[in-house]
Amino acid sequence: MLRRILLAASASERVRRLVTFAPLARGVVARYVAGERAADAVAVARRLRAAGLLVTLDHLGEDTTDARQAAAVVDEYVTLLSELAAAGLTGHGAAEVSVKPTHVGLGLAEHGEKTAAENLARICAAARNAGTTVTVDMEDHTHVEATLRMVRTLREDFPDLGCVIQSQLRRSADDCAALAGRGSRVRLCKGAYNTPPEAAFPSRAEVDRSYARCLGELMRGDGYPMIATHDPPLIKIAGAQANLTDRGPGDFEYQMLYGVRSAEQQRLASGGAQVRVYVPYGSDWYGYLVRRLAERPANLLFFLRSLAGSS
Ligand SMILES: Cc1cc2nc3c(=O)[nH]c(=O)nc-3n(C[C@H](O)[C@H](O)[C@H](O)COP(=O)(O)OP(=O)(O)OC[C@H]3O[C@@H](n4cnc5c(N)ncnc54)[C@H](O)[C@@H]3O)c2cc1C
Repeated sequence: MLRRILLAASASERVRRLVTFAPLARGVVARYVAGERAADAVAVARRLRAAGLLVTLDHLGEDTTDARQAAAVVDEYVTLLSELAAAGLTGHGAAEVSVKPTHVGLGLAEHGEKTAAENLARICAAARNAGTTVTVDMEDHTHVEATLRMVRTLREDFPDLGCVIQSQLRRSADDCAALAGRGSRVRLCKGAYNTPPEAAFPSRAEVDRSYARCLGELMRGDGYPMIATHDPPLIKIAGAQANLTDRGPGDFEYQMLYGVRSAEQQRLASGGAQVRVYVPYGSDWYGYLVRRLAERPANLLFFLRSLAGSS
């Protein structure tokens, strides 16, 4: 219930204004967000690489409402990619980028899908020049069909383009089976958006069972599974399935969010696994932060106290 209320708040403009103009909850934001500028993100990427972790950087923002703004987002990614390359962080995809389709225009009232696809192609070309890859994030269920369509088309020119499947959706095991072809990079997560029961499994247990089913499809396939979860039982299942399907440490990777279970990230990497950390940066942190609080309501009290200035 609380999760649903928080996720509704993440999409509310009124609540967004209230929170972002309140005395800044710096401690909570800084836990999950690398900083406001590309240079902050590059500095965090450098630190994580030195600790043996892979990185994907996300320029925060979503639901862009005009084409010029969407083009500016592309410019930001192009600059970020050249800064990452200049810092020597992009080789073999060690530091890549993640992009939200609505940030680059998918939600525009006119020609949204065409604009987003062209913008993603520009980012993919810049990533290729920098020697790295792009993964297209998955947003709420109303954008799934268009996002997968764009990924299928863009993969004709950029076969290493990654996409995301959310196990909370009823359709996802079929999507995983369809996406498990040779070289296909697929990030599997539970899903961070409010979704009606017609499209999504309503209980956490069903979402977890669906995650295990999707994982099976990806691990048995010929693609490259990216296992994005902090959930201990699912991480164990992933390790067991990798053994069963004869996948070595280079044939899949774990992914976790910046600021979440950092010790577990290090433990897996120390054991020889590939672990990639999703690092967001930028000033538009509100929606991202509220989705993180919805996953872990225990953080909410701390957050409310810091908003009130008492922590
Ligand atoms: C790399 C990466 C990329 C993602 N990309 C997308 C995407 O494109 N689209 C999308 O919808 N979702 C995305 N997500 C979010 C994802 O869908 C989940 O909402 C999120 O990962 C929490 O689910 P969980 O699998 O960790 O399991 P949960 O059951 O939520 O958590 C398992 C355990 O992890 C720890 N934990 C989880 N969240 C937090 C937190 N915020 N703070 C502290 N501890 C926590 C707790 O110990 C918890 O018990 C992504 C997640 C990751 C890791």
